[in-house]
Amino acid sequence: MAHAIPLWTPPALPISGSGDTFPVRRIFCVGRNYAEHQKEMGGDGRETPFFFLKTEFALVPVPANKSGEVHYPAKSSNYHYETELVVALHKGGRRIDVKKANDHIYGYAVGFDMTRRDLQQWGKDHGRPWDFGKNFDESAPCGELVPAKKIGHPSKGALWLNVNGKQRQKADLSDMIWSVPEQIAFLSEHYTLEPGDVIYSGTPAGVGPVKPGDELHAGVDGVGELKVKIVPAL
Ligand code: MN
Repeated sequence: MAHAIPLWTPPALPISGSGDTFPVRRIFCVGRNYAEHQKEMGGDGRETPFFFLKTEFALVPVPANKSGEVHYPAKSSNYHYETELVVALHKGGRRIDVKKANDHIYGYAVGFDMTRRDLQQWGKDHGRPWDFGKNFDESAPCGELVPAKKIGHPSKGALWLNVNGKQRQKADLSDMIWSVPEQIAFLSEHYTLEPGDVIYSGTPAGVGPVKPGDELHAGVDGVGELKVKIVPAL
């Protein structure tokens, strides 16, 4: 059977120390998962986790030791970075036990949950979806995946971001309100998770705007680093 238009290739992440890639199925992102960031966004306390999604086509894979580029997005004048630990699943499932959730993880990477903060705020103010604020072209840059079989399952260690050489975010993975296994267990109550699904596990305090020419350099201890330059709008 022929297809009316050419079939596309799923976006995929590079894998550290391998020529293979990791095809990405869906991108789940948790909101307000570090206490200090929750405060800066107006929250208070350990509320039930909430998630939004980006399509896999928002992904911008960035190979190790290379700098990625993302275009300043359309229709925004308040474009923010959020530095996050990214978790990739190689095993799906429903109602996954939190104690077994790590078995579903293939590996980890450093990613940016890029955000049109003005459009997100408009959605919040009007009780409308977040898609235009969160799920747009090139909104999910992500570095290479490091397999858990190499590094284990990091639950502590620094997560940091420098913009043009100045530190803007600095936190510890242990500051997460909902741990990665808890996020997987929670998501799997609501969705049948599948191999290839990835989770952006939340950002700490210090989010802020960037403009064309800015250079983002982020890292998570024991996982890796990610460099992305903002280039002028298309
Ligand atoms: Mn985020």
